[in-house]
Order: sequence, then C-alpha cells, then structure tokens
Amino acid sequence: MVHPAVPRCAGGKVPGDVIVRIDTTTICGTDLHILKGDVPAVQVGRILGHEGVGTISETGTGVKDFADGDRVIISCIKSCGHCVNCRTNLPSHCLGAEGAPGIGWIFGHLIDGTQAEYVRVPYADNSLHKVPDGVTDVQAVMLSDILPTGFEIGVLAGQVKPGDVVAVIGAGPVGLAAMMTAGLCGAATVIAIDVDHGRLEQAKTFGATDTVVSGASNWKEQVLALTDGAGVDVAIEAVGVPETFAMALDTVRPGGHVANVGVHGKAVELHLEELWIRNISITMGLVNANTTPMLLKLVASNKIPAERFATHFFPLDQMMEAYETFSNAATTKALKVVISRVE
Ligand code: NAD
Ligand code: ZN
Repeated sequence: MVHPAVPRCAGGKVPGDVIVRIDTTTICGTDLHILKGDVPAVQVGRILGHEGVGTISETGTGVKDFADGDRVIISCIKSCGHCVNCRTNLPSHCLGAEGAPGIGWIFGHLIDGTQAEYVRVPYADNSLHKVPDGVTDVQAVMLSDILPTGFEIGVLAGQVKPGDVVAVIGAGPVGLAAMMTAGLCGAATVIAIDVDHGRLEQAKTFGATDTVVSGASNWKEQVLALTDGAGVDVAIEAVGVPETFAMALDTVRPGGHVANVGVHGKAVELHLEELWIRNISITMGLVNANTTPMLLKLVASNKIPAERFATHFFPLDQMMEAYETFSNAATTKALKVVISRVE
C-alpha cells in the first residue's frame, strides 16, 4: 500500500526508492504481536519484517548515495530526511507520506516488509546504511532494530552515566541490547532481571554483572543490596507488562530514571500521588534508529559483539520453522533467528 500523495514516475516507481534483494532477515517480538492481532493497522496479506540486510538490485533515479550492488542495512525506521520531525532528529515520526505520515515504522506494518526475497525501500538515501567490509550480515541485521532500540530508548533515554547502577528488567533481545550498550555510557553495575533462568545465564555474556530472578520473594532486596541501599540509578523496562513497569519504579532511587522500552498492550497505573516526591524521571518512546551509524562503527571495530544475539539459523524457505523456533524461545533458547537467502 502506497500513500497516493507519493510522487511516482511512469511505471509506478518512486525516484527515491531502491529495491533490495534480502540476504539476511530476522523475526522480532513485534512480529509475534502482529500475528496475535495486537497491531490492527497491519492488513491481512502484509509481508512482515522490519529488520534486514541485503544487496541493492535496482536504484531509483533520485537516489544519490546508493547504487546497484551496495550491501545495506535496512533501518526499521524510514526517514524522508526533509520533514520537521526528521530535521529535529525524530524520524520515528517522519511525516513523509509513504506508509502514513507521522509514522517512521512502516516495513512489515504499513508497507510490505523484509521477510521476503526482495523489498522496496522508500526514501533510500535516509533509510539505509552501507555495510562496511568485515561486518557480517549476522552482525549487521542486529542494527536494524534491537541494538538502536536498547541503546536509544533504554540507555540514552535513561541518561546512564559513568559509575551508575543500571537494572534491566527483561533479558530478551532488546533488554540484552541495553545491557550490551550500557557500558558505552559508563555503567558500573548492570543487573539483569528476568523470570527465565536461561535468559539470565545468557545475560552474563551481554554485559550483565549481576542477575536477579524476577518473582523471587526477595528480588527487591537482592537488587537494593547491589546499590548503596537507595536504589538503582536507572531502571530500564524491556518487557511491556504493568508488573515490570511497577518493578522499575520500585527499584529506582530518588532522582533516578525509569526508561520504558517495552510496548504495553494494556493500561498501566501511574501513582503520581506517591511518585512526585521522589523526583523520578520517566521516559518512553519509539526508536529513532539515529544512533545506528555510531553503533555500526563499534560493531565494525569489534567493540560490540552483535553476532552473539544469533542463536538459530534458517534458509528463507523455512520461514515457518523459524517462526516456530522464535515463538517458543523459553524451550528453544532462541534469541534472534537468522534467516538467509537461499543460494
Ligand atoms: P522478548 O519477549 O523476547 O523478551 C522479554 C523478556 O521479558 C523475556 O526474556 C521474558 O522472560 C521476560 N519477562 C517476562 N515477564 C517478566 C517478568 N515478570 N519479570 C521479568 N522479566 C520478564 O521481547 P524483546 O524482543 O526483547 O522486546 C522487549 C520489549 O521491547 C517488547 O515489549 C517489545 O515490543 C519492545 N520493543 C520496543 C521498541 C521501541 O521502539 N520502544 C522496539 C522494539 C521492541
Ligand atoms: Zn521525515
């Protein structure tokens, strides 16, 4: 589906588009939400997927910075580069007409996505990143969504600073991305909190210095014991249920930050009558993916081992098996499933 306001050349092509042959894609928790019907804007028949790495096979006449044959990361957020929101570093709310004005996330949502052999990428000049030599597809595909999301909406929004104690509630791919990047801002202690013991084990290889089992009767005492007793400096919520948002507020110190990353499906209570006097900042948001170039440099220089997220590998013609494995993560121990082009 293309918005009628998008200018088109004869033959239906938009000059700023490229067509990318998908070499590697993956599945996000959000795709599972879509299949459950939680994202009603997605029409039946839509090709899913907002993460991908591929090779440009066709380049629109208006594209300046990319050419046929370039290996590219497709950002989960499109950016026209010209609207007021793109110009003020908020491409998550790009006003470009593709998909729908005001929404940066369009792939596998409002237009066909990356879980396919080919994908059309609008606003190519601002929505793609060239993959440097030496960066593998497996590393690069983690930069479409999870690494910028954990870093921007968790670590940066939470204003992590040197010496901080940071709790990350939820050790799925997004929470692990926050743990992996918290050190970039100087976090001294990173506490992973999850119900799943397997995920907590994995968290230790993603930068967690300590782990706490969510739901243990003394979970809060365990967290406080890792601070000066006053609470954590930053609590990052990476689950998306009322209980874990409450846990974040429960463990943060006065003057601290709660960075909500999780997508909530139902209303969450906010007790301002108790919270106001604790001087807590609460942030939330949709990823802008504007830190991707910086994160890509760190992946290229082996400072961020992005390949660690990849746990299972499938060819593109085994997409259903890949979904099956990913949606049963508690038993399969899947973090990110890597789905590659069939040669
Ligand atoms: P995931 O489902 O793989 O991971 C969630 C983790 O939370 C799991 O390890 C699970 O065991 C754990 N968990 C569940 N209940 C818990 C509890 N009570 N206490 C502690 N841990 C608990 O999800 P993900 O792919 O890592 O994504 C995390 C969240 O981030 C989701 O809500 C997703 O929709 C959201 N997200 C937000 C953005 C954004 O732009 N804000 C972008 C991408 C994803
Ligand atoms: Zn825009």
